[in-house]
Amino acid sequence: MNIDPQLLSIIVCPACHGELAAAVVDGADELVCQGCGNAYPVRDDIPVLLVDEARKPA
Ligand SMILES: [Zn+2]
Repeated sequence: MNIDPQLLSIIVCPACHGELAAAVVDGADELVCQGCGNAYPVRDDIPVLLVDEARKPA
């Protein structure tokens, strides 16, 4: 993943406004919310911060 750290520091979870942490799950980049656990996909290095697109925690 090649997300600007400054960008990462200002974006938050759209569901709960928690902090997001970059992670790689099954070879795919994701941003995982430290609050609610939603995982947002990253496509072409652009975070998709849509609740509808998020992978919800089990
Ligand atoms: Zn959240």
